Amino acid sequence: MVERLLWEQEVVGSNPASPTSIYSYMLLNTIIIGLIWYQVIAHVGISAGLHRYWAHSAFKANTCFECVSLYLSILAGSRSPIGWIAAHRMHHSHSDTEHDPHSPRFKGFWIVFLSLWTLKNIPVKYSKDLFENSRIVFFHKHWLIIWTTTAVVTLCISPWLFLGMVVIPGILAPIGFGTVNALCHINGESRNIPLANLLVAGEGYHSEHHSGKVLRFHKYDLTGFVLEKIYGPAR
Ligand SMILES: [Zn+2]
Ligand SMILES: [Zn+2]
Repeated sequence: MVERLLWEQEVVGSNPASPTSIYSYMLLNTIIIGLIWYQVIAHVGISAGLHRYWAHSAFKANTCFECVSLYLSILAGSRSPIGWIAAHRMHHSHSDTEHDPHSPRFKGFWIVFLSLWTLKNIPVKYSKDLFENSRIVFFHKHWLIIWTTTAVVTLCISPWLFLGMVVIPGILAPIGFGTVNALCHINGESRNIPLANLLVAGEGYHSEHHSGKVLRFHKYDLTGFVLEKIYGPAR
């Protein structure tokens, strides 16, 4: 009897398919997939989509790209795409002043770093053109139900899917892009942080962006590199 118990203990303890090892395996895989998925969202949804295409009209794209980029941007926790774009345009107009919607100097470093800042009123001039596009207006009106539906559907399919597809990018994206807003303006002026590109899809060359280079085609700017291959040189 003792021998049998010892044998069972040994088998259970070394069995690669034990509940603990399956859980660890699933968690590790989900984190890896979540990190990869976050990079897709950051590159397509925020950097290429909201920032370079929608906010700065840096290239022309078809309806499919518009819808995909808007959907992915919502998974990145950007809320209303029109709100995001208008705030970003306002940031360009009033960088590092008290009218800058996310200046770390005036709003507080951690508020900006964690993307917890809010903006009550945005002048209509920053979003007027966007309301002429029915796709972005649709995502603007329904961003919450789109995000909630995605969350519920993924959760019903699998908690792992929910964790990888919704939770991980939902945490990383606000911190990632909050990093640009906070660290790239920490001294009251824009600056480049190349290392930030790992987290923010090539947006780390922030000072150069403020200097007027809308699409920064640099060897560490993957979003810009791909856009250049598809749409030609930056303009
Ligand atoms: Zn910009
Ligand atoms: Zn900036």
